[in-house]
Amino acid sequence: MVAGADSRLYLIFLGAPGAGKGTQTAMLSQALGIPRISSGDLFRENIKNQTPLGRQAKAYIDRGELVPDAVTVGMVIHRIAEDDCVRGALFDGFPRTIPQAEALEAALAEQGKTLGAVVDLVVDHEILLERLSGRWMCRGCGASYHLAFHPPKTEGKCDTCSAELYQREDDRADTIEHRLLVYYRQTAPLQNFYRQRGLLYQVNGEQAIEAVQEAVLRVLGVSQPAEYAGFG
Ligand code: ADP
Ligand code: ADP
Ligand code: ZN
Repeated sequence: MVAGADSRLYLIFLGAPGAGKGTQTAMLSQALGIPRISSGDLFRENIKNQTPLGRQAKAYIDRGELVPDAVTVGMVIHRIAEDDCVRGALFDGFPRTIPQAEALEAALAEQGKTLGAVVDLVVDHEILLERLSGRWMCRGCGASYHLAFHPPKTEGKCDTCSAELYQREDDRADTIEHRLLVYYRQTAPLQNFYRQRGLLYQVNGEQAIEAVQEAVLRVLGVSQPAEYAGFG
């Protein structure tokens, strides 16, 4: 059981853009009481606040390219050192390259933390296109919605924080195709990286949102309600 070894749970969510990483990690963060660290959200936060890091990252994000490793790694490693990550963290969208994965491994080791598992959400290309082109995101909390697959209760508003929903600039058809290409080239090799370390758990991400969540909890070995208590 992945979650049993110690009371700290550092988990990576791998998967293409649109695979459901944000949706699943948001639910799991609630269930386990550990923070979700989304590199994409951290970048968007920096862009909104017009920080130097945000200005640097924006040009890459707009083109659907990866932000350089040095910038990305620094930002995420800084985040893991914060107090709320002492009992674990869910990484959403990080690492996305082998050098990022190596940097994360080193940083966790330095802080006396270990990676519990890497959950890879597997979704076919055509379905990814359908999901990304219909995605609406919350300006307040970063939650993902979909016009057809996961509509908000009130049109244009987030179910949890009531903030406005918007469509991301980089969710345009041409940028989506490019981001998926970048994923296949630069991020998919991480599957083997983690498989070799015995940490890779592949989950069928094409099922309904709740079914994917159940499958994720099953591979993590936290399907029993009683076991939630230890992590909550
Ligand atoms: P998605 O949810 O569609 O996978 P994200 O919100 O995770 O997208 O990321 C949006 C963009 O932010 C990426 O296309 C990339 O430009 C940048 N980005 C996010 N995470 C990383 C990362 N780990 N390394 C490099 N760039 C990143
Ligand atoms: P990622 O963070 O991997 O880029 P998201 O969690 O933002 O992916 O999901 C991408 C889009 O697909 C969103 O519009 C979301 O509502 C929708 N979605 C997520 N999971 C599912 C699912 N299992 N079935 C159908 N649609 C989904
Ligand atoms: Zn919200």
